[in-house]
Amino acid sequence: MIEKWKEWCNEKLSYEGKARKIGLLVSGGADSAMALYVLSKHILDCDKDKIFSKSIIVPMHGWDQRRINVYSPDSAKDVIKVVKKLIPEAPIKNLQICGYYKEKGEEKAKYHNPFAYMLVKENIIDVYYSGSTKQPEGHVMKKLKMEDLKRTEDLQRKKGPMGSYTKRELALLYKDYGLMEDLFPVTVSCIGDAPQPCKNCWWCLEKYDAFGMYDGGVK
Ligand SMILES: [Zn+2]
Repeated sequence: MIEKWKEWCNEKLSYEGKARKIGLLVSGGADSAMALYVLSKHILDCDKDKIFSKSIIVPMHGWDQRRINVYSPDSAKDVIKVVKKLIPEAPIKNLQICGYYKEKGEEKAKYHNPFAYMLVKENIIDVYYSGSTKQPEGHVMKKLKMEDLKRTEDLQRKKGPMGSYTKRELALLYKDYGLMEDLFPVTVSCIGDAPQPCKNCWWCLEKYDAFGMYDGGVK
């Protein structure tokens, strides 16, 4: 169960006998940080004669300019820096950033899809995936009084290597891979647009439930 991301990799990392340029949305949060880590690890660990050993990862980040205090690309850059330090040969290419102004209630996909389409046209990526985990189980949501995110079909289609994990399972992976000291502390989940975690938003609640701490290890 714990390494179910491997199935995803075996299925998606090559296509019709060709290696792929994989676009991966890296938000700076704990989910996509792990996605970037396991993808890098898998590409490097696989047999060199396997076609996907030639695959590359193109991290992508969308900055919602509605956020005025937090420049979220910095979190994505920190995550990439740490993953590259942990896996020096990681096949991670330059971070692609797109700025947009998301109205309340709009899906990020509205902005991420054209961004990705442009990268496909420019031959920078072949395909792109989300770095997110799935929503917590019903009983956890209930306990934390969390609202259903009503994740769309589009997001289902873009399910990345962490797409079959809950945040609690993700926390187990962080511990198993020994990533609590270096990678976890640089991840940022809160959308409160302040330097400190708000301890109140959906993402703070979910992170605290799984890891027992907020962004930056705040208890
Ligand atoms: Zn928050």
